[in-house]
Amino acid sequence: MAGPGEFELIQEYFLSQFSGSDPAAGVELGIGDDCALLIPPPGKRLATSVDTLVADVHFPAKADPYRIASRALRVNLSDLAAMNAEPLWFTLALTLPESDASWLEGFARGLADTARKFGIVLVGGDTTKGPLSITIQVTGATAQPLLRSGAGEGDQVFVSHSLGAAAAALPLVLGDLEGSEGQKQLADAAYYFPEPQFELVGQLSAYASAALDISDGLLADLGHICTASQLGAELNLDKLPIAALAQTAGAERALQLATSGGDDYQLCFTVPEQHVNAVTALQLPITAIGRLTAELGVRCSYGGNRWQPQHAGYQHF
Ligand code: ADP
Ligand code: MG
Repeated sequence: MAGPGEFELIQEYFLSQFSGSDPAAGVELGIGDDCALLIPPPGKRLATSVDTLVADVHFPAKADPYRIASRALRVNLSDLAAMNAEPLWFTLALTLPESDASWLEGFARGLADTARKFGIVLVGGDTTKGPLSITIQVTGATAQPLLRSGAGEGDQVFVSHSLGAAAAALPLVLGDLEGSEGQKQLADAAYYFPEPQFELVGQLSAYASAALDISDGLLADLGHICTASQLGAELNLDKLPIAALAQTAGAERALQLATSGGDDYQLCFTVPEQHVNAVTALQLPITAIGRLTAELGVRCSYGGNRWQPQHAGYQHF
């Protein structure tokens, strides 16, 4: 069955779901003209970020399109959260191998549901033919950005919730590993519905000195904070909160997944000593796992011994 042409496609799946103008959201003119016209909130800075998801690199090409859209938008939203920016607008560059009405219906519904949940508006994009690929650019606003470079020597290192679920989920999501119904549900949630940590970051921003979202693995991403802040880190992995799904893989493998597995989109952030009590008193789902040191490099201990990851994190090249 032939799907809609380019202009019908934009009209039916994107323009219809996201109205052309939305004054309350700062959208003077949305989808449909050469450019969108956007009005930034007064007194705030704009934060912008872009991520591309390529089929069979970042998600299985045959995955449910509703889930692909959810993941594509959520991983971008996670960057806004990690910067302490509230979501405003996004654009979508969509490359499709064919115009498939049922795929587009699922994708547009996933996109609209996710956008509504997080209060972000689609304001434009581009549609081309080629191997399936999704590029989303998000823009948010912040009065108090949290940079990677703000950490100081002696600051404590925290992570949010638990790590390793998304990496443990991957073989289940790809169908390479059989799991129980419960495991499959956990895997689906971890991989396709990562939670941008807006609520947490809002409560932490007054105390944290640096933050990022863990997309490539804890050790690799903490390494970015260390590099940007010209420091090193000493971690006690006995304290690391490891996700239930990762724990089923056995202790050593779970540790590998939680330190080096990507895609969790949890926060890693640092807190100066004088604010640690205030942060702890908030009783948030966060765990202190170590501290920053003048000595460069990220060093780990586990069970009282030095511990080395097998590989530090995901790199494309
Ligand atoms: P142009 O040729 O000026 O780039 P297009 O024909 O590519 O315009 O797009 C027409 C309008 O539809 C523009 O406002 C563009 O932002 C929007 N648009 C195109 N593709 C998408 C998409 N996948 N999602 C959202 N908006 C889109
Ligand atoms: Mg265009």
